[in-house]
Amino acid sequence: MNIRFVFGILPAFIRYGDDMKDWVGGEAKRCFITIRPKYLALKDEGIHQHELEHVKQWYLLMLSFVLLSIAALAMPFGDVLDRMLLAVMLICIGVVAHEFLYNSVRAYRLRCEVDAYHLQLATYQDGSDAMWAARALSEKYDLNITVSEAMELLCVGADGQYGSV
Ligand SMILES: [Zn+2]
Repeated sequence: MNIRFVFGILPAFIRYGDDMKDWVGGEAKRCFITIRPKYLALKDEGIHQHELEHVKQWYLLMLSFVLLSIAALAMPFGDVLDRMLLAVMLICIGVVAHEFLYNSVRAYRLRCEVDAYHLQLATYQDGSDAMWAARALSEKYDLNITVSEAMELLCVGADGQYGSV
C-alpha cells in the first residue's frame, strides 16, 4: 500500500492488484486506488496521475458538502439537533456524490475522464501513441461519443499523438 497526497495534504491510498474489469488498468473509489501491478513494474506514472485525478474529483465534491454542512450548523433555524442531523446528512451525501454523479450523469463522467486522461497523456514522452486513450474514451465509458470526438476532447492529432492538434 502506497500513500500519495492530492492538493498537497489529502491522502490517496494506492494498492496494486488485478481485481478489476479486464479492460481497466486502474480504478479509484473515493480516496482508494487500485492499479494493476504491471503498471508499477513499468513505472507508469500516467495511470497513477489518471487515478489520482479521480481521487481529487471525489475530494472536491465531498469537501464542498463538508462546507455546506458547516454552513448548515451555523444557520439560525431549528434546534441544534436538527442542524446537526442536516450536517451529518450533507456529509453522507458528499461521500457518495462523486460516485453517484459519475455513474448516472454522462456529462459529469465525460468531464471526469477527459481531465484524467489529459493528465495521464501529458506524463508520457512526446511522440507516444495516444490513440488508445481516444478509443477507450469513445468505447468503454458509455459516453456516446465517436473516436474523432474523443480525439478532439483529448487533443490527440491525426498522427495519433497527444497535443499535436
Ligand atoms: Zn478514469
